Amino acid sequence: MTALPNRHETFQPTVEERLHAIFESFAGETAASCRYAGGELSYAELYRRAANLRHDLASGPLAGPERPPVLIWGHKDHRYMIAYWACLTGGWALVPVEPETPVERVRQIASACGAGALLIADTDTRIEAQIADLVSVVHIGCEDDCTGLAFDTACRAPNAGINPHDVAYIMFSSGTLGQPKGIQVSYANLIDFIDWLDVLLPEAAMWQGVSGNIRYCFDVSLFEIWTAWLHLLPVTALDHADLANSSGLIQRVAADRVSLWVSTPSIIRLFLKNPRFTGEALPDCRTFLFCGEPLTKMIVRQLFERFPGCRVVNTYGPTECTVAVTGVDITEAHLTDTHELPIGYARPGTVLEHFAQAEAGAEDGSEPLAGEIYIRGLSVGNGYINLPEKQATAFPKPGLYRTGDWGYRAKDGLWYFKGRIDRETKIQGVRVDLDDVEKHVRSLEGVDDAVVSVYSLDGQPRALNAFVLGPRGAADLRALAERLATELPSYLVPRFWYANFEVKLNNNSKLDRKEVITAAGKARARYVHSGLGVGVPHGH
Ligand code: AMP
Repeated sequence: MTALPNRHETFQPTVEERLHAIFESFAGETAASCRYAGGELSYAELYRRAANLRHDLASGPLAGPERPPVLIWGHKDHRYMIAYWACLTGGWALVPVEPETPVERVRQIASACGAGALLIADTDTRIEAQIADLVSVVHIGCEDDCTGLAFDTACRAPNAGINPHDVAYIMFSSGTLGQPKGIQVSYANLIDFIDWLDVLLPEAAMWQGVSGNIRYCFDVSLFEIWTAWLHLLPVTALDHADLANSSGLIQRVAADRVSLWVSTPSIIRLFLKNPRFTGEALPDCRTFLFCGEPLTKMIVRQLFERFPGCRVVNTYGPTECTVAVTGVDITEAHLTDTHELPIGYARPGTVLEHFAQAEAGAEDGSEPLAGEIYIRGLSVGNGYINLPEKQATAFPKPGLYRTGDWGYRAKDGLWYFKGRIDRETKIQGVRVDLDDVEKHVRSLEGVDDAVVSVYSLDGQPRALNAFVLGPRGAADLRALAERLATELPSYLVPRFWYANFEVKLNNNSKLDRKEVITAAGKARARYVHSGLGVGVPHGH
């Protein structure tokens, strides 16, 4: 007699069935799936056009059993969403590429992942002439003319035979120099992330819309698009060319009744400069979710003041582990304690560990020892394409990832981020942890964010520079340096201070550290903290 499958086996949908259930929910939905400067795209249109495109690709340039990755070329355009779903349901790993990417790098990316096609989902189509020799190029029409096919049931996504460990998407790490690093995330990883969204954002069922602030080549955008897709909400796409026009954007966010705001701390800092960025102007905006960079107390204080009763969630994680692996609601108590803000509790199915000598402290209120954070579990992705050495170092075994981040876990399981392990340097023989100094500078009153770097002379590290956002004049800088000198040994107090420079963000909308250093070179306010023996240990 054959054993009957148990209940669990019978009813557990496969990852492919899960995706299809979400996709099928779009079919009859007339509400907008995304709103962009030029109009909107309904869920039903998204469904129909993605299914058509998938059909065209499967019977055209991507015909055959092999399923190569597909580059999607586009910024904040509704066609990106069409391309996304065509690839996702077709089993072709999608690779987002921003139109700003230099051609040489796009070619490197296409070769590195063995791309089968490049889908143009943007009005900027210049890439075609420069890549058509390497991959098939497919234009997605702006209007519904991409296929010439009348939608019929043949286009309904049939089973593509996707396995849980097949690659769903590949993100190429930021930076324009060096070998591109392709980070692969599987369908199983993606489903696990989607499941977490339900736990993390239970209030989503009540929402009217979500922000579309993050570029698609940065995986934090998955918080926005997947929350929208799970609840059939519109995404209000923010074209980064408009980032300087916060008033216009605030109006759009208000009109679209955006309830969830996702961004890096750097993006919200631009909005907080605008006095109209308030709960009065944006009554629907109730939840703010951050990822990607240290969230500062100054930002949260301003949000609590301007959006009374709002929810602020801090999340943390590397792309290698599917967007984020921890999350926590920031409270008034976090703002008043002496620690930096926590990054959160590990998400279900994921375990964080850190290798510190001992878990000391904590009980008497002092910090436990920090160690390198390792991540284990369902969020850990497949790793890098064709980089065996990097793979072996960062993924010592499948399902385990070494982050290169320093952190510690408090007694209650809450994690704190201390910085990158590779930011340790020696200045005149003294070991200096730049992240640690940066953290102290950032915690000074009036400082919004800070970058600390090494000042070198004749190729030798000699002292520290501090570049600070917030303070405006040399007198402010002097006060900060003097304040810091009361907290840190003199050799850790930066000698050169800069403020009042133009701030630039990188492709992932994080503070661009290199740009900060360049811009600060031309800064309008500087201060040299004389009298401190930089690089000379205390007492020498
Ligand atoms: P990326 O893979 O580009 O998302 O970068 C991941 C890295 O960003 C992490 O390894 C951390 O160094 C940093 N990071 C991400 N989230 C946070 C956070 N909430 N606080 C501090 N650093 C963060």
